[in-house]
Amino acid sequence: MSRVPSDAKWRVPPSADLQAILSSGTVDESVVHTRVRRLLERMHREGRLNSATSATDIGVVMDEIFPFPGQLDQAAYERYIDPADRTMVYHSVRDAYTTPNPADRADLATAMQDAAATAQTVSTDEAGLRAVFGPTEWSNAQAGYRLINNKLVAISADIAHRISTDYNLDAQETFLGGWASFGDQHIHLLSRVVSDPLTPRSKVTLLHEAAHLADSRIDDHGYYGTPGFEAAEEAIKVNNAAHFEELPRRTWGISSYVGQTFTPGLTSSGAPLTTEEQIRAGGVQYYRKAWDAASDFDSLIKDVRRNQLDGTPLDGATVARMLEVSPLMDLTLHEQMVSPPEVTRLDITTSESIVRAMSIAKRNVPNVPNVMPMGPFLSTADEIAAGVSLAVDAAMAAYGGLLGDAARDRRLVDWLHDHYRNVYP
Ligand SMILES: [Zn+2]
Repeated sequence: MSRVPSDAKWRVPPSADLQAILSSGTVDESVVHTRVRRLLERMHREGRLNSATSATDIGVVMDEIFPFPGQLDQAAYERYIDPADRTMVYHSVRDAYTTPNPADRADLATAMQDAAATAQTVSTDEAGLRAVFGPTEWSNAQAGYRLINNKLVAISADIAHRISTDYNLDAQETFLGGWASFGDQHIHLLSRVVSDPLTPRSKVTLLHEAAHLADSRIDDHGYYGTPGFEAAEEAIKVNNAAHFEELPRRTWGISSYVGQTFTPGLTSSGAPLTTEEQIRAGGVQYYRKAWDAASDFDSLIKDVRRNQLDGTPLDGATVARMLEVSPLMDLTLHEQMVSPPEVTRLDITTSESIVRAMSIAKRNVPNVPNVMPMGPFLSTADEIAAGVSLAVDAAMAAYGGLLGDAARDRRLVDWLHDHYRNVYP
């Protein structure tokens, strides 16, 4: 996966979906209202409701949208939400996982071949490899680049089977650049990478995901440009996809570390990481894992929705996982009077909004005040752990909170962090 900046908006279900949920009676009306209100609040916080200003009261908006029991006023809803705009309204889980359009494939293949050629070129740059990966691991990184080159060339010749994308803009909404499966040798890409693949940023994403396919040990241990990135240990860097971005980024003119030699434990200024810098780096990693797990849950719940639309029965473990997470995220599943519960678009959009919140909170960590804990501590490690905990809470508070209760927000973040790479039952 990789982090991509995005101007996407929070999304809500279409009005007809909400009216159908209200009319079905499978869930209490108050449940629908609280969930819709949260989504509108989260959109409003980012300044993205149509015809709303900072002075707009969401309580008033709710009264306009739901004027009578059991009723949704479509015209009122659509004053705030443009039903045709996929960045505002969730359209289709089917469009969220599909093969690239034939018209997009030629440029995508060219971009992969460009990235492959760059990987091959940097594999011969011993000085550059030593500067980024260090004196012990540089030759392993060299081997990694050769494999990345091979993978990109191979995949560029079989895009129809090896690449999927997302024309529903889910990945844009959740800041997901893409993901890669070593076992399946498959890459899933943000639609912007597929539709505009020849930019340096898109080629970085292609190379990053291809690194995951090159060697199962190449994982995500910290994204490009995050605190402590340049100070990572050699054994981490050679197994971290984002570190394979650096030499190609230098070639393509989008490096944040031009000409630098990375030294483990030292920042770009040449100084050791301070305790506070280690706390902030730890807080970013905490949210990276929470975001990754939230992304996995988001994929899982969309799989479930697709299966339900197809009439495919769910297995018990999946239902159990859905019902475990539903009260943590305030989905509707545990409130429904049907069994197994039906995943609605209200649940899909709520899940998405939580993935997005984890990413925004992560980006708050470097800037929140007061992350140094009050001592004394038995060790620096204890002090850092206490500081990371403060930073996690402060970053969520700076976002504005998710569930209206800081303790519940923290339980959700902790659950996600603790289920990193362990969300699928
Ligand atoms: Zn990755």
